[in-house]
Amino acid sequence: MVDVRSLLGSLASTRTVTDAVDMGEVILGDQDYLFLEPVVFEVTLTNTGGGIVADGTARAQVRTQCVRCLCDFSVGLVAPVEGFYVMPGREEEVPPEQEFGLIVDGVRVDLEPAIRQAAILELPFAPLHDAECLGICPVCGTDRNVDPCDCPPQTVPTPFSALEGLVAPEQEG
Ligand SMILES: [Zn+2]
Ligand SMILES: [Zn+2]
Repeated sequence: MVDVRSLLGSLASTRTVTDAVDMGEVILGDQDYLFLEPVVFEVTLTNTGGGIVADGTARAQVRTQCVRCLCDFSVGLVAPVEGFYVMPGREEEVPPEQEFGLIVDGVRVDLEPAIRQAAILELPFAPLHDAECLGICPVCGTDRNVDPCDCPPQTVPTPFSALEGLVAPEQEG
């Protein structure tokens, strides 16, 4: 919680806040992401008259699994943080498409939800430990990054492959 009383009195006044939020583990579908340390953020709060705008950056180190070879690896995230906070009772002045939070008790802003949302939105959807990851061989199960095997490349059977032998070659002329 950030005390914003010093901002509320004067239009366009700003305050920069630096802090950290503990995220622990986040699971999205089959993928899990372990935040190795608290998410550190630097956010500038500005009194725009209609409310308080938050704008800044959050940074995190996350451990997750490569979707191709399933190895654990860590990745750094840099997430843009945005927020907008209004005084209780002035909610109806906010345009309908604008997301906002309330200034708690009219004196404090809770940045934590905005930091969490920013960090989650920045998580890689299908993480690769390396863009060139060779993955696991579907035939012998070897991690091809460690030991490139000699298995033939797998062809995916289609409903048409069974018909291939039945089709007579076209006659010319
Ligand atoms: Zn990999
Ligand atoms: Zn193989």
